[in-house]
Amino acid sequence: MNTKPLKYRYTLETYDPKVRKHICPACKKRTFVRYVDLESGEYVSTDVGRCDREEKCGYHKKPRDYFEENGGGPKKEYFFPRAVKKVSSDNHFSIVSSQLAKDTMTAYEKNNLISFIKSRWGKDAVQKITTSYQIGTCRFWPGATIFWQQDSDGRFRTGKIMLYNRENGHRIKDPVSRIMWVHKLPMFSDFNLKQCLFGEHLIKEKDCPIAIVESEKTAIIASFFFPDAIWLATGGLNNLQSDKTRCLSGREVILFPDLGAETKWIMQADSIPHLKNAKVSTWLMKHSTQKDKDEGLDIGDWLIKLPSVRKFQIKDFL
Ligand SMILES: [Zn+2]
Repeated sequence: MNTKPLKYRYTLETYDPKVRKHICPACKKRTFVRYVDLESGEYVSTDVGRCDREEKCGYHKKPRDYFEENGGGPKKEYFFPRAVKKVSSDNHFSIVSSQLAKDTMTAYEKNNLISFIKSRWGKDAVQKITTSYQIGTCRFWPGATIFWQQDSDGRFRTGKIMLYNRENGHRIKDPVSRIMWVHKLPMFSDFNLKQCLFGEHLIKEKDCPIAIVESEKTAIIASFFFPDAIWLATGGLNNLQSDKTRCLSGREVILFPDLGAETKWIMQADSIPHLKNAKVSTWLMKHSTQKDKDEGLDIGDWLIKLPSVRKFQIKDFL
């Protein structure tokens, strides 16, 4: 089996031995292998492919030929570019080219999470959030959001691709959780991953308290309600780690754990020297119902329930 990572957006389907060949449009034999769009998983078109009877038939129509005839094809601003600038390496870890990341920072009307944010809090919220957090849109799943992990030196470490419900802003978990990583896309290979906190690129912008939550969605929403802090996300319950938080040394840090995760985060923070002075907000615990606690809600869920936009001060939530 061919396990070599695929580097192109379109590929002949032969890499999967289970796939049955199709009828060739030229010789009508079942020897035809179609091109697949790796981003959507769909065929380009029924006549785009190569006949395996190379000597006798030789039919070969490439995706490029098809798009030249019919128009359409990948639009740079919504899709990942087909050919990606080689991932550059910075001593110990790989980075995604900033041009690739920037090319995804558009098409917000197609981005489910951003559309939800717009419907709840309007254009200003979208403007502020997409600009500061450099949110991406991608078609890995139609409507998906990319949370780019950009470090404090401006390098894109990777991006987390997630799909949300456009109407209520909830994550799509059914039938399976829709989470994917940019560095796992076929265009990347030999990627030496080193993640950073989501939002890390913002910490040098101003000298204000740093609030840390688990979910990227919560970080971007909270940033709109609490402009007096910089909101970062760990991206997971177990991601409050020493190497990722080193950049916060000397800063005022306030942790906002999900309901039920308070003890875990207090213990994690205690074990990290540069988080020794971090405060842990217990505000949500005091202002939530048993049902909220059972569901493990977070400050973002609480903010979403508010009837209108208000601006808060972080010191009132300690
Ligand atoms: Zn043929």
